[in-house]
Amino acid sequence: MNIKSPQKLLEKIQSQLGQNIPTNLPFENEEYHLHFQKRAEEMNFKPEEYENGIDDLIKGFWEDIDMLDDDEVKIIKEKIAIGNAKIDTFRAMLVKVGNFYSIIFNFGLYIYLNKNLKLLHATHKPNDVMFCNRIEKKEYSGEIFHEFRDELCKIYKGAGRVLGAIVLLNPEVTIVGKQLYFIELFILCHELGHFFNGDLEDKTTTVSLYENSEEQILNEKNSNLKEFKADIKGFQLVLKILIKKHKLGKNPVPPHLILSILIINFNILTELAPKESKTHPYPINRLLNIVDLFYGKDAADFILKTYEEPNLLIKNKAKFTEISNRLKKYFEE
Ligand SMILES: [Zn+2]
Repeated sequence: MNIKSPQKLLEKIQSQLGQNIPTNLPFENEEYHLHFQKRAEEMNFKPEEYENGIDDLIKGFWEDIDMLDDDEVKIIKEKIAIGNAKIDTFRAMLVKVGNFYSIIFNFGLYIYLNKNLKLLHATHKPNDVMFCNRIEKKEYSGEIFHEFRDELCKIYKGAGRVLGAIVLLNPEVTIVGKQLYFIELFILCHELGHFFNGDLEDKTTTVSLYENSEEQILNEKNSNLKEFKADIKGFQLVLKILIKKHKLGKNPVPPHLILSILIINFNILTELAPKESKTHPYPINRLLNIVDLFYGKDAADFILKTYEEPNLLIKNKAKFTEISNRLKKYFEE
């Protein structure tokens, strides 16, 4: 089949992988539905206007891409389509056929991140939870939400399914939304990083998406260096987008929060990664690689030490704050 546009490539992959993402997530029970409506009202959010929440996210990506340089926007729009696939795995990928590309976000990626980040927040601030489908309000505690988060990770690692407790946070809690936005943007930009780095151009380092298909994806074996480079290019693109948005008076993620969200992102990947992997760089090394380049070598050394000595973050909070603020200069120029 001759692919004539990136959109056609996306549609072909979606028809093979399965599409028709459930737009209105099934409500597990009436109580959840009522809480959801209450929260929506408090946030002045009209769910019926967002019939397709996940597609909205893709629309948001295009608004973000428009923040890049004109030549970057032009080539992305010419060559790449972005869409979802109804697959319950935590994964995004760049696919190539001929001259066109598609970035595919698996549905499981959104759901896993969403659940994980809410449970992480609930672990530290159980009082911010408005509703949980498993337990009564009087049972809410950091320990129990920590257990639910552990369980989410274990089920995913064991069964490859995204299944876990449903949690709704109070509408005042905006930090989790910022974390989700940043991590999804970073994932998008990492895939764009592979595109700009030309990682799918070299046929010796790609494999077929399905057996003998013309769709090519990056061969995960021996692609460590490509992954590190895609992170660097991706992080540059993220910063460009956030700085431009900041200058336009929008402030989706202030610079001082970026480091802590990056750490959360790579911690989530670490929790899901097998102990030893020859095909993937160890997620913490990916984190340190970014920190080294954008925050400085001393910052990377400090972050590495916090993994060996978890109390260090509490003991030396001032140092972490100082490092976190180092990106501010780019936003103020
Ligand atoms: Zn990659």
